[in-house]
Amino acid sequence: MADSYADFEAYLQTTASARLADYLELLRIPSISALSEHAGDIRTAAGFVADRLRAAGIEHVEVAETGGHPVVYGDWLHAPRAPTVLVYGHYDVQPVDPLDLWETPPFEPRVENGRVYARGAADDKGQVHLHLAAAAAWLAVRGAFPVNLRYVVEGEEESGSENLERWLEEHRDRLSADVAVISDTGFFEGNLPAITVGLRGMMYAQIDVVGSRLDLHSGSHGGAVMNPALALAEILAGLHDHDGRVAVEGFYDDVVELTGGDRAELARLPFDEEAYRESLGVPALHGERGYTTVERKSARPTLDVNGIWGGFEGEGAKTIIPAHAHAKVSCRLVPDQDPHRVFELVRDRILELAPVGVRVEVRLINTGHPLVTPIDHPATQAAAACIREVFGKAPLFIREGGSVPVACSFASVLSLPVVLLGFTPPDDQAHAPNESMRLDNYELGLRTVIRYWDALAAIGLAASLD
Ligand SMILES: [Zn+2]
Repeated sequence: MADSYADFEAYLQTTASARLADYLELLRIPSISALSEHAGDIRTAAGFVADRLRAAGIEHVEVAETGGHPVVYGDWLHAPRAPTVLVYGHYDVQPVDPLDLWETPPFEPRVENGRVYARGAADDKGQVHLHLAAAAAWLAVRGAFPVNLRYVVEGEEESGSENLERWLEEHRDRLSADVAVISDTGFFEGNLPAITVGLRGMMYAQIDVVGSRLDLHSGSHGGAVMNPALALAEILAGLHDHDGRVAVEGFYDDVVELTGGDRAELARLPFDEEAYRESLGVPALHGERGYTTVERKSARPTLDVNGIWGGFEGEGAKTIIPAHAHAKVSCRLVPDQDPHRVFELVRDRILELAPVGVRVEVRLINTGHPLVTPIDHPATQAAAACIREVFGKAPLFIREGGSVPVACSFASVLSLPVVLLGFTPPDDQAHAPNESMRLDNYELGLRTVIRYWDALAAIGLAASLD
Protein backbone atom coordinates (compact mmCIF):
# COMPACT_ATOMS: atom_id res chain seq x y z
CA MET A 1 0.00 0.00 0.00
CA ALA A 2 2.80 2.39 0.97
CA ASP A 3 4.26 2.04 -2.51
CA SER A 4 1.16 3.40 -4.20
CA TYR A 5 1.82 6.71 -2.46
CA ALA A 6 5.55 6.87 -3.22
CA ASP A 7 4.97 9.76 -5.63
CA PHE A 8 3.22 11.74 -2.90
CA GLU A 9 5.95 10.88 -0.40
CA ALA A 10 8.66 12.21 -2.70
CA TYR A 11 6.70 15.42 -3.26
CA LEU A 12 5.95 15.87 0.45
CA GLN A 13 9.58 15.43 1.40
CA THR A 14 10.80 17.95 -1.17
CA THR A 15 8.22 20.50 -0.07
CA ALA A 16 8.47 19.94 3.70
CA SER A 17 10.41 23.05 4.67
CA ALA A 18 8.37 25.35 2.43
CA ARG A 19 5.21 23.83 3.93
CA LEU A 20 6.34 24.53 7.48
CA ALA A 21 7.34 28.09 6.59
CA ASP A 22 3.93 28.69 5.04
CA TYR A 23 2.14 27.25 8.09
CA LEU A 24 4.13 29.59 10.35
CA GLU A 25 3.13 32.51 8.15
CA LEU A 26 -0.53 31.71 8.74
CA LEU A 27 0.14 31.51 12.49
CA ARG A 28 1.62 35.02 12.49
CA ILE A 29 -1.76 36.53 11.58
CA PRO A 30 -3.58 37.46 14.83
CA SER A 31 -7.04 36.52 13.54
CA ILE A 32 -8.92 36.70 16.84
CA SER A 33 -12.59 36.70 15.87
CA ALA A 34 -13.97 37.80 19.24
CA LEU A 35 -12.12 41.15 19.30
CA SER A 36 -13.27 43.84 16.86
CA GLU A 37 -9.81 45.43 16.73
CA HIS A 38 -8.64 42.30 14.88
CA ALA A 39 -11.23 42.57 12.08
CA GLY A 40 -8.44 43.52 9.66
CA ASP A 41 -6.36 40.50 10.69
CA ILE A 42 -9.39 38.29 10.11
CA ARG A 43 -9.51 39.60 6.52
CA THR A 44 -5.78 38.94 6.13
CA ALA A 45 -6.21 35.34 7.31
CA ALA A 46 -9.19 34.82 4.99
CA GLY A 47 -7.09 36.19 2.13
CA PHE A 48 -4.26 33.81 3.03
CA VAL A 49 -6.55 30.76 2.86
CA ALA A 50 -8.17 31.93 -0.41
CA ASP A 51 -4.75 32.55 -1.91
CA ARG A 52 -3.45 29.07 -1.02
CA LEU A 53 -6.62 27.39 -2.37
CA ARG A 54 -6.18 29.24 -5.66
CA ALA A 55 -2.48 28.42 -5.80
CA ALA A 56 -3.28 24.74 -5.25
CA GLY A 57 -5.63 24.75 -8.25
CA ILE A 58 -8.97 24.92 -6.42
CA GLU A 59 -11.60 26.80 -8.46
CA HIS A 60 -14.32 29.40 -7.77
CA VAL A 61 -12.38 30.61 -4.75
CA GLU A 62 -14.01 33.54 -3.01
CA VAL A 63 -13.93 35.38 0.26
CA ALA A 64 -17.70 35.39 0.79
CA GLU A 65 -19.45 37.97 2.94
CA THR A 66 -21.71 36.67 5.71
CA GLY A 67 -22.59 39.85 7.55
CA GLY A 68 -19.83 39.01 10.03
CA HIS A 69 -16.38 37.61 9.36
CA PRO A 70 -16.16 36.11 5.86
CA VAL A 71 -16.26 32.48 4.79
CA VAL A 72 -13.62 31.31 2.34
CA TYR A 73 -15.15 29.05 -0.28
CA GLY A 74 -13.58 27.11 -3.14
CA ASP A 75 -14.35 23.93 -5.08
CA TRP A 76 -12.99 21.39 -7.53
CA LEU A 77 -15.74 19.41 -9.26
CA HIS A 78 -14.20 17.36 -12.04
CA ALA A 79 -14.76 13.82 -10.79
CA PRO A 80 -18.25 13.15 -12.24
CA ARG A 81 -18.57 9.58 -11.05
CA ALA A 82 -17.21 10.19 -7.55
CA PRO A 83 -18.63 11.51 -4.28
CA THR A 84 -18.46 15.19 -3.32
CA VAL A 85 -16.77 16.03 -0.05
CA LEU A 86 -17.33 19.25 1.86
CA VAL A 87 -14.24 20.11 3.93
CA TYR A 88 -14.68 22.44 6.89
CA GLY A 89 -12.18 24.28 9.08
CA HIS A 90 -11.78 27.74 10.60
CA TYR A 91 -9.06 30.36 10.26
CA ASP A 92 -10.03 32.42 13.33
CA VAL A 93 -8.49 31.86 16.75
CA GLN A 94 -9.25 32.38 20.44
CA PRO A 95 -8.08 35.47 22.35
CA VAL A 96 -4.62 35.10 23.92
CA ASP A 97 -5.04 36.35 27.49
CA PRO A 98 -3.54 35.80 29.99
CA LEU A 99 -0.65 36.99 27.87
CA ASP A 100 1.95 36.81 30.66
CA LEU A 101 1.63 33.00 30.79
CA TRP A 102 2.90 32.59 27.22
CA GLU A 103 6.57 31.58 27.10
CA THR A 104 6.93 33.35 23.76
CA PRO A 105 4.47 35.73 22.07
CA PRO A 106 1.36 33.91 20.76
CA PHE A 107 1.70 35.22 17.21
CA GLU A 108 5.43 34.65 16.89
CA PRO A 109 5.45 30.88 16.27
CA ARG A 110 8.29 28.95 17.88
CA VAL A 111 9.38 25.50 16.73
CA GLU A 112 10.80 23.38 19.53
CA ASN A 113 10.96 19.65 20.34
CA GLY A 114 8.90 18.69 17.31
CA ARG A 115 6.13 21.14 18.09
CA VAL A 116 4.97 24.51 16.85
CA TYR A 117 3.92 26.86 19.64
CA ALA A 118 1.50 29.65 18.69
CA ARG A 119 -2.14 30.62 19.13
CA GLY A 120 -4.08 28.61 16.56
CA ALA A 121 -1.22 26.14 15.93
CA ALA A 122 -3.64 23.30 16.68
CA ASP A 123 -7.07 24.95 16.77
CA ASP A 124 -7.57 25.22 13.92
CA LYS A 125 -4.91 26.68 11.65
CA GLY A 126 -2.76 23.54 11.72
CA GLN A 127 -5.67 21.44 10.47
CA VAL A 128 -6.76 24.03 7.90
CA HIS A 129 -3.21 24.27 6.66
CA LEU A 130 -2.76 20.53 6.28
CA HIS A 131 -5.92 20.44 4.14
CA LEU A 132 -4.50 23.23 1.97
CA ALA A 133 -1.29 21.22 1.69
CA ALA A 134 -3.20 18.04 0.82
CA ALA A 135 -5.04 19.87 -1.96
CA ALA A 136 -1.80 21.27 -3.35
CA ALA A 137 -0.20 17.82 -3.17
CA TRP A 138 -3.01 16.03 -5.03
CA LEU A 139 -3.06 18.49 -7.91
CA ALA A 140 0.72 18.75 -8.12
CA VAL A 141 1.36 15.01 -7.97
CA ARG A 142 -1.64 13.49 -9.76
CA GLY A 143 -3.17 16.48 -11.58
CA ALA A 144 -6.71 15.63 -10.46
CA PHE A 145 -8.58 14.59 -7.32
CA PRO A 146 -10.33 11.22 -7.11
CA VAL A 147 -13.37 12.98 -5.51
CA ASN A 148 -15.09 16.34 -5.87
CA LEU A 149 -14.21 18.83 -3.16
CA ARG A 150 -15.80 21.91 -1.66
CA TYR A 151 -13.87 23.89 0.92
CA VAL A 152 -15.66 26.01 3.52
CA VAL A 153 -13.25 27.76 5.88
CA GLU A 154 -14.94 30.16 8.26
CA GLY A 155 -13.78 32.99 10.51
CA GLU A 156 -16.25 32.97 13.40
CA GLU A 157 -15.95 29.50 14.92
CA GLU A 158 -14.30 30.73 18.10
CA SER A 159 -17.03 33.29 18.62
CA GLY A 160 -20.03 31.05 17.97
CA SER A 161 -20.33 30.78 14.16
CA GLU A 162 -23.04 33.48 14.36
CA ASN A 163 -23.52 33.93 10.63
CA LEU A 164 -22.43 30.63 9.17
CA GLU A 165 -25.71 28.76 9.49
CA ARG A 166 -27.57 31.47 7.58
CA TRP A 167 -24.83 31.50 4.94
CA LEU A 168 -25.13 27.72 4.58
CA GLU A 169 -28.90 28.03 4.20
CA GLU A 170 -28.57 30.75 1.55
CA HIS A 171 -26.05 28.70 -0.41
CA ARG A 172 -27.56 25.29 0.18
CA ASP A 173 -27.74 24.49 -3.57
CA ARG A 174 -24.12 25.38 -4.21
CA LEU A 175 -23.01 23.31 -1.24
CA SER A 176 -24.52 19.99 -2.22
CA ALA A 177 -22.22 17.16 -1.18
CA ASP A 178 -22.27 13.57 -0.02
CA VAL A 179 -20.29 13.91 3.18
CA ALA A 180 -18.86 16.70 5.35
CA VAL A 181 -15.36 16.29 6.76
CA ILE A 182 -14.78 18.58 9.72
CA SER A 183 -11.21 18.91 10.90
CA ASP A 184 -11.44 20.68 14.24
CA THR A 185 -10.99 17.86 16.75
CA GLY A 186 -8.08 15.75 17.89
CA PHE A 187 -6.57 12.57 19.27
CA PHE A 188 -7.03 10.89 22.63
CA GLU A 189 -4.88 11.13 25.78
CA GLY A 190 -1.40 9.75 25.10
CA ASN A 191 -1.71 11.04 21.52
CA LEU A 192 -3.60 7.89 20.56
CA PRO A 193 -5.24 8.21 17.15
CA ALA A 194 -8.96 8.83 17.47
CA ILE A 195 -12.04 9.80 15.53
CA THR A 196 -14.59 11.93 17.33
CA VAL A 197 -18.13 10.61 17.09
CA GLY A 198 -19.81 12.95 19.55
CA LEU A 199 -19.62 16.67 20.27
CA ARG A 200 -21.25 18.60 23.04
CA GLY A 201 -23.43 21.60 22.28
CA MET A 202 -23.23 25.03 23.88
CA MET A 203 -25.31 27.66 25.59
CA TYR A 204 -23.38 30.79 26.56
CA ALA A 205 -24.90 33.64 28.58
CA GLN A 206 -24.02 36.72 30.62
CA ILE A 207 -25.47 37.64 33.99
CA ASP A 208 -25.62 41.34 34.96
CA VAL A 209 -26.47 42.20 38.55
CA VAL A 210 -27.14 45.90 39.21
CA GLY A 211 -27.72 47.65 42.52
CA SER A 212 -27.10 51.34 43.07
CA ARG A 213 -26.48 54.01 40.40
CA LEU A 214 -22.85 54.42 41.52
CA ASP A 215 -20.47 52.51 43.79
CA LEU A 216 -21.45 53.24 47.40
CA HIS A 217 -19.28 54.07 50.45
CA SER A 218 -19.44 50.88 52.50
CA GLY A 219 -19.09 52.87 55.73
CA SER A 220 -22.05 55.11 54.97
CA HIS A 221 -24.27 52.50 53.29
CA GLY A 222 -22.97 49.06 54.30
CA GLY A 223 -25.81 47.25 56.05
CA ALA A 224 -28.50 49.21 54.23
CA VAL A 225 -28.41 47.71 50.74
CA MET A 226 -27.88 44.38 48.97
CA ASN A 227 -24.36 44.01 47.61
CA PRO A 228 -24.49 43.07 43.87
CA ALA A 229 -21.26 41.03 44.08
CA LEU A 230 -22.67 39.06 46.99
CA ALA A 231 -25.97 38.62 45.15
CA LEU A 232 -24.08 37.28 42.13
CA ALA A 233 -22.15 34.86 44.36
CA GLU A 234 -25.42 33.57 45.83
CA ILE A 235 -26.88 33.08 42.37
CA LEU A 236 -23.84 31.23 41.05
CA ALA A 237 -23.59 29.05 44.13
CA GLY A 238 -27.22 28.05 43.63
CA LEU A 239 -26.65 26.62 40.17
CA HIS A 240 -25.22 23.28 41.38
CA ASP A 241 -26.24 20.88 44.12
CA HIS A 242 -23.89 18.97 46.44
CA ASP A 243 -23.74 16.03 44.03
CA GLY A 244 -22.22 18.23 41.34
CA ARG A 245 -25.46 18.20 39.36
CA VAL A 246 -26.79 21.30 37.66
CA ALA A 247 -29.54 22.57 39.97
CA VAL A 248 -31.77 23.96 37.26
CA GLU A 249 -35.22 22.46 36.99
CA GLY A 250 -35.72 20.64 33.68
CA PHE A 251 -32.02 20.82 32.77
CA TYR A 252 -31.67 17.04 32.38
CA ASP A 253 -35.15 16.40 30.93
CA ASP A 254 -34.04 15.98 27.32
CA VAL A 255 -30.72 14.27 28.00
CA VAL A 256 -30.47 10.92 26.22
CA GLU A 257 -29.03 8.70 28.94
CA LEU A 258 -25.91 6.73 28.06
CA THR A 259 -26.69 3.11 27.27
CA GLY A 260 -24.79 0.24 28.87
CA GLY A 261 -22.99 -0.14 25.54
CA ASP A 262 -22.01 3.57 25.45
CA ARG A 263 -20.67 3.36 28.97
CA ALA A 264 -18.72 0.17 28.20
CA GLU A 265 -17.19 1.84 25.12
CA LEU A 266 -16.12 4.86 27.17
CA ALA A 267 -14.79 2.63 29.97
CA ARG A 268 -12.54 0.84 27.46
CA LEU A 269 -10.63 4.04 26.63
CA PRO A 270 -7.12 3.94 28.10
CA PHE A 271 -7.69 6.89 30.40
CA ASP A 272 -5.30 7.41 33.32
CA GLU A 273 -7.23 9.48 35.83
CA GLU A 274 -4.26 10.31 38.03
CA ALA A 275 -2.07 11.35 35.07
CA TYR A 276 -4.95 13.50 33.87
CA ARG A 277 -5.31 15.14 37.29
CA GLU A 278 -1.59 15.71 37.46
CA SER A 279 -1.46 17.20 33.96
CA LEU A 280 -4.11 19.76 34.91
CA GLY A 281 -2.35 20.69 38.14
CA VAL A 282 -5.54 20.39 40.23
CA PRO A 283 -5.51 18.92 43.77
CA ALA A 284 -8.52 16.71 42.99
CA LEU A 285 -10.95 16.00 40.16
CA HIS A 286 -14.55 17.03 40.67
CA GLY A 287 -17.90 16.58 38.98
CA GLU A 288 -21.31 15.01 38.80
CA ARG A 289 -21.71 12.06 41.14
CA GLY A 290 -22.51 8.70 39.55
CA TYR A 291 -20.46 9.17 36.39
CA THR A 292 -16.83 8.47 35.54
CA THR A 293 -14.44 11.30 34.69
CA VAL A 294 -14.48 10.32 31.00
CA GLU A 295 -18.27 10.34 30.99
CA ARG A 296 -18.43 13.68 32.81
CA LYS A 297 -15.98 15.41 30.50
CA SER A 298 -17.40 14.13 27.22
CA ALA A 299 -20.88 12.71 27.42
CA ARG A 300 -22.65 14.57 30.27
CA PRO A 301 -23.96 18.14 30.25
CA THR A 302 -22.30 20.79 32.42
CA LEU A 303 -22.70 24.35 33.62
CA ASP A 304 -19.57 26.46 34.17
CA VAL A 305 -18.74 29.98 35.26
CA ASN A 306 -16.32 31.33 32.64
CA GLY A 307 -15.64 34.70 34.18
CA ILE A 308 -16.74 36.89 37.04
CA TRP A 309 -16.08 40.56 37.64
CA GLY A 310 -17.25 43.67 39.46
CA GLY A 311 -16.20 46.10 42.16
CA PHE A 312 -12.72 47.04 43.23
CA GLU A 313 -9.86 44.97 41.83
CA GLY A 314 -6.93 47.37 42.24
CA GLU A 315 -4.07 47.35 44.70
CA GLY A 316 -4.74 47.96 48.37
CA ALA A 317 -8.16 48.67 49.84
CA LYS A 318 -11.14 50.62 48.60
CA THR A 319 -14.21 50.37 50.78
CA ILE A 320 -17.12 50.28 48.38
CA ILE A 321 -20.28 48.38 47.69
CA PRO A 322 -20.01 47.87 43.94
CA ALA A 323 -22.84 49.25 41.84
CA HIS A 324 -22.84 46.14 39.67
CA ALA A 325 -21.32 42.68 39.20
CA HIS A 326 -21.24 40.31 36.23
CA ALA A 327 -20.54 36.76 35.20
CA LYS A 328 -20.29 34.76 31.99
CA VAL A 329 -21.74 31.27 32.27
CA SER A 330 -21.91 28.46 29.76
CA CYS A 331 -23.33 24.98 29.44
CA ARG A 332 -21.93 22.09 27.46
CA LEU A 333 -24.91 20.16 26.12
CA VAL A 334 -25.54 16.60 24.97
CA PRO A 335 -28.24 15.05 22.72
CA ASP A 336 -31.19 15.94 22.76
CA GLN A 337 -30.79 19.16 24.77
CA ASP A 338 -31.85 22.27 22.89
CA PRO A 339 -29.62 25.27 23.64
CA HIS A 340 -32.45 27.81 23.50
CA ARG A 341 -34.60 25.81 25.88
CA VAL A 342 -31.61 25.36 28.19
CA PHE A 343 -31.07 29.13 28.13
CA GLU A 344 -34.67 29.73 29.21
CA LEU A 345 -34.39 27.19 32.03
CA VAL A 346 -31.09 28.61 33.29
CA ARG A 347 -32.33 32.19 33.00
CA ASP A 348 -35.50 31.39 34.95
CA ARG A 349 -33.46 29.68 37.68
CA ILE A 350 -31.08 32.66 37.92
CA LEU A 351 -33.98 35.09 38.25
CA GLU A 352 -35.51 32.83 40.90
CA LEU A 353 -32.22 32.81 42.84
CA ALA A 354 -31.80 36.61 42.62
CA PRO A 355 -32.13 38.16 46.08
CA VAL A 356 -34.28 41.21 46.77
CA GLY A 357 -32.49 44.56 46.37
CA VAL A 358 -30.77 44.06 43.01
CA ARG A 359 -31.89 43.95 39.38
CA VAL A 360 -30.72 40.89 37.46
CA GLU A 361 -30.55 40.45 33.71
CA VAL A 362 -29.52 37.34 31.79
CA ARG A 363 -28.53 37.63 28.14
CA LEU A 364 -27.92 34.84 25.65
CA ILE A 365 -24.56 35.22 23.87
CA ASN A 366 -24.41 32.15 21.65
CA THR A 367 -25.57 28.60 21.15
CA GLY A 368 -24.56 25.37 19.42
CA HIS A 369 -26.35 22.03 19.11
CA PRO A 370 -24.84 18.74 20.30
CA LEU A 371 -24.08 16.00 17.78
CA VAL A 372 -23.47 12.27 17.71
CA THR A 373 -22.39 10.53 14.48
CA PRO A 374 -22.63 6.80 13.73
CA ILE A 375 -19.41 4.80 14.10
CA ASP A 376 -20.46 2.28 11.44
CA HIS A 377 -20.96 4.87 8.67
CA PRO A 378 -18.79 3.85 5.66
CA ALA A 379 -17.16 7.32 5.53
CA THR A 380 -16.19 7.01 9.21
CA GLN A 381 -14.88 3.48 8.68
CA ALA A 382 -12.86 4.65 5.64
CA ALA A 383 -11.31 7.42 7.75
CA ALA A 384 -10.43 4.83 10.39
CA ALA A 385 -8.71 2.67 7.78
CA CYS A 386 -6.61 5.61 6.53
CA ILE A 387 -5.57 6.53 10.07
CA ARG A 388 -4.58 2.94 10.77
CA GLU A 389 -2.50 2.84 7.60
CA VAL A 390 -0.67 6.14 8.22
CA PHE A 391 -0.35 6.24 12.02
CA GLY A 392 0.09 2.48 12.35
CA LYS A 393 -2.68 2.18 14.91
CA ALA A 394 -6.45 1.79 14.67
CA PRO A 395 -8.23 4.90 15.97
CA LEU A 396 -10.38 4.99 19.07
CA PHE A 397 -13.90 6.34 18.68
CA ILE A 398 -14.32 9.10 21.22
CA ARG A 399 -16.78 11.70 22.37
CA GLU A 400 -15.28 15.13 22.60
CA GLY A 401 -16.40 17.43 25.37
CA GLY A 402 -15.97 20.48 23.17
CA SER A 403 -18.35 22.02 20.70
CA VAL A 404 -18.13 22.71 16.99
CA PRO A 405 -21.33 24.67 16.46
CA VAL A 406 -21.25 24.14 12.75
CA ALA A 407 -21.09 20.35 12.89
CA CYS A 408 -24.81 20.24 13.57
CA SER A 409 -25.56 22.76 10.85
CA PHE A 410 -23.96 20.50 8.27
CA ALA A 411 -26.09 17.65 9.53
CA SER A 412 -29.32 19.67 9.84
CA VAL A 413 -29.11 22.38 7.14
CA LEU A 414 -27.32 20.39 4.46
CA SER A 415 -28.44 16.91 5.59
CA LEU A 416 -24.90 15.58 5.34
CA PRO A 417 -23.29 12.76 7.25
CA VAL A 418 -20.42 14.31 9.22
CA VAL A 419 -16.97 12.81 9.78
CA LEU A 420 -14.96 14.56 12.50
CA LEU A 421 -11.42 13.91 11.31
CA GLY A 422 -8.85 15.81 13.35
CA PHE A 423 -5.23 15.24 14.31
CA THR A 424 -4.36 17.64 17.12
CA PRO A 425 -2.54 16.16 20.13
CA PRO A 426 -4.66 16.10 23.31
CA ASP A 427 -2.08 18.20 25.18
CA ASP A 428 -2.26 20.97 22.57
CA GLN A 429 -3.47 23.55 25.14
CA ALA A 430 -6.01 24.86 22.64
CA HIS A 431 -7.68 28.04 23.98
CA ALA A 432 -4.93 28.33 26.65
CA PRO A 433 -1.45 29.90 26.77
CA ASN A 434 1.35 28.06 24.91
CA GLU A 435 -0.96 26.30 22.49
CA SER A 436 1.00 23.87 20.32
CA MET A 437 0.73 21.38 17.47
CA ARG A 438 2.93 18.30 17.09
CA LEU A 439 4.60 18.47 13.70
CA ASP A 440 4.46 14.68 13.27
CA ASN A 441 0.68 14.81 13.83
CA TYR A 442 0.48 17.54 11.19
CA GLU A 443 2.57 15.58 8.68
CA LEU A 444 0.83 12.25 9.27
CA GLY A 445 -2.55 13.99 9.30
CA LEU A 446 -1.72 15.44 5.91
CA ARG A 447 -0.88 11.96 4.58
CA THR A 448 -4.12 10.60 6.08
CA VAL A 449 -6.19 13.24 4.28
CA ILE A 450 -4.39 12.49 1.01
CA ARG A 451 -5.35 8.81 1.31
CA TYR A 452 -8.84 9.61 2.54
CA TRP A 453 -9.89 11.17 -0.78
CA ASP A 454 -8.94 7.89 -2.47
CA ALA A 455 -10.78 5.90 0.18
CA LEU A 456 -13.96 7.92 -0.25
CA ALA A 457 -13.71 7.54 -4.01
CA ALA A 458 -13.47 3.80 -3.50
CA ILE A 459 -16.71 3.79 -1.49
CA GLY A 460 -18.34 5.31 -4.52
CA LEU A 461 -21.33 7.47 -5.26
CA ALA A 462 -23.83 9.31 -3.13
CA ALA A 463 -26.17 6.37 -2.69
CA SER A 464 -23.67 4.28 -0.80
CA LEU A 465 -22.65 7.17 1.46
CA ASP A 466 -26.13 7.84 2.82
ZN1 LIG B 1 -11.62 25.01 16.59
